[in-house]
Amino acid sequence: MERIFLSPPHMSGKEQGYIAEVFESNYIAPLGAFVDRFEQSVCDYTEAKYALATNTATAALHLALRVLGIERGDYVLASTLTFIGSVNAILYQGAQPIFVDSDESWNLSPKLLQEAIEKAPKKPKALIVTHLYGQVAKIEEIARICKAHDIYLVEDAAESLGASFEGRQSGTFGDMGVYSFNGNKILSTSGGGMLVSDNAAWIEKASFLSTQAKEPFLHYEHKEFGYNYRMSNVLAAIGVAQMEVLDERVERRRGIFQRYADRLQEIEEIHFMPEIEGSRGNRWLTTLTLEHTDPLKVIRLLDEANIESRPLWKPMHLQPLFEGSLAIVDGAAERLFSTGVCLPSGSAMHDDTVERVADIVKKACR
Ligand SMILES: *Cc1c(COP(=O)(O)O)cnc(C)c1O
Repeated sequence: MERIFLSPPHMSGKEQGYIAEVFESNYIAPLGAFVDRFEQSVCDYTEAKYALATNTATAALHLALRVLGIERGDYVLASTLTFIGSVNAILYQGAQPIFVDSDESWNLSPKLLQEAIEKAPKKPKALIVTHLYGQVAKIEEIARICKAHDIYLVEDAAESLGASFEGRQSGTFGDMGVYSFNGNKILSTSGGGMLVSDNAAWIEKASFLSTQAKEPFLHYEHKEFGYNYRMSNVLAAIGVAQMEVLDERVERRRGIFQRYADRLQEIEEIHFMPEIEGSRGNRWLTTLTLEHTDPLKVIRLLDEANIESRPLWKPMHLQPLFEGSLAIVDGAAERLFSTGVCLPSGSAMHDDTVERVADIVKKACR
């Protein structure tokens, strides 16, 4: 049988038509009309005021930290249970991460965030909070804490495009937000990112830095260094088509989650990632923990049936790369890592495949 992947791209069918328009215009270039349209479509959907399309979400996070003035020697708080792309930008800026553990929501603990701020060697300048697996973190509480301590809030919404809290989109609560359009995300442009903010000057500065920091002269004049982080017009055409089906994709991923939840309901040792009150996640990946069964056993049994599954992210404070970094942890993320599994959740997956996966998980638990 054909391999079932964790979260493969799911094209709408309109992408190639838009790409053909790009070819007709010969704007096979970074930037062009589709980049503008893609940025506008993200603004329209999320109600962020300004958006900047980038080649990756990692680049967008880097631009955010640079624009916010994060420098060598600064401290930046971050979720420990996340993907490395969330925190690499801290290192690019020569800053020091302080990792904060999860709570029962699986996402960043506001209580431990407070503690981390109090225990930091000097005042942290920013927090990068991840909305893990498309489920919204306790973002209002987190935003309040950041505001009270004058700490910039950057939302890593790479996994949570289309997720909301009290009707407001993830990525729009903080000073800046970042979405990813990598190959495995809810929408894909093969590779791509988007930086959003309500602050025009920040997005303008990020735009300047993302195109080699060229001063406005005919000859190329430079006062500071920038990056080549902009998105291709060809990929933006894919993005425009993908944004048109975002609501459908969220519905389908939530439907897949529900089918797993129903099918596995009788297995008492299984606990799914929660959805906090007032929020509506995009269920990018259906994730669960097991009380007794070794998650590697589940992953192995699925692999034998040619189905891809994975452990949860390995917490950053347990990574060799971050040995010696500060971390305010109580074991929550480590426990999730040692007991958790991510199940295939691609929006093109058929119901009977979801059931087949669920039945193998069930078998592993016996
Ligand atoms: C995928 C991901 C990123 C990086 O996104 P890219 O577009 O691949 O650079 C960052 N943070 C999280 C939480 C992610 O899942």
